Amino acid sequence: MLKENLYDVQRRIGEACHRAGRDPREVTLVAVSKTKPLADIEELLEAEQLEYGENYVQELCEKYEKISRPVHWHMIGHLQRNKVKYLIDKVALIHSVDSLSLAEQIEKEAAKRGRVAEILIQVNVAHEDTKYGLDPQKVTDLAEQISQLPHVKIRGLMTSAPYVSDPEENRGYFRALHQLFIDIRRKNIDNVSMDILSMGMTNDFEVAVEEGATMIRVGTAIFGER
Ligand SMILES: *Cc1c(COP(=O)(O)O)cnc(C)c1O
Repeated sequence: MLKENLYDVQRRIGEACHRAGRDPREVTLVAVSKTKPLADIEELLEAEQLEYGENYVQELCEKYEKISRPVHWHMIGHLQRNKVKYLIDKVALIHSVDSLSLAEQIEKEAAKRGRVAEILIQVNVAHEDTKYGLDPQKVTDLAEQISQLPHVKIRGLMTSAPYVSDPEENRGYFRALHQLFIDIRRKNIDNVSMDILSMGMTNDFEVAVEEGATMIRVGTAIFGER
């Protein structure tokens, strides 16, 4: 059942790539398993789905301890500075960095452990008051500041576009974020690689893929309603 949902999402990613003339191997699917039981993840492991997104630190840590084999965990929810220490050893990528102070906390905890934490800068593309993330105009400056931190590596940008009934309404936001991603990449900032563009969820991932997403975060279409 969940595996069928996964295959269906994979097929839709393939079709969106085909429409956009892209190679489906350029797009990584993160299955967003927040609030869903570990058994659901174990089922998808049988289909070799290895990337999972979680929003809450405690839930991520519990699943990390209990899972039967290692997977790549993605922290996609808002992250408080005092929780960084619990996550730093467990996650492959933190998608939700939107301030220098959070990046500095990540630097501190990563340095203590002698590792480099990979992060994305979260952008609030539609200037929604209810959402975390940085104003698009402030992203380049923050990237330059974070690039000075030796144990934090910026891999790209992330956004959650507005919830809309017609995903076409988000196309302009995705296109603008893709352009910002390219503009920052062209600056060749030391210690910034800009190869991951994390955008697109159940409601709008096909449009996001058509507009250049290299990582999409899909929950409901795989696991069902929360
Ligand atoms: C919950 C969540 C998702 C997945 O949302 P769906 O609409 O269920 O696909 C993706 N990204 C973030 C940041 C989320 O919080």
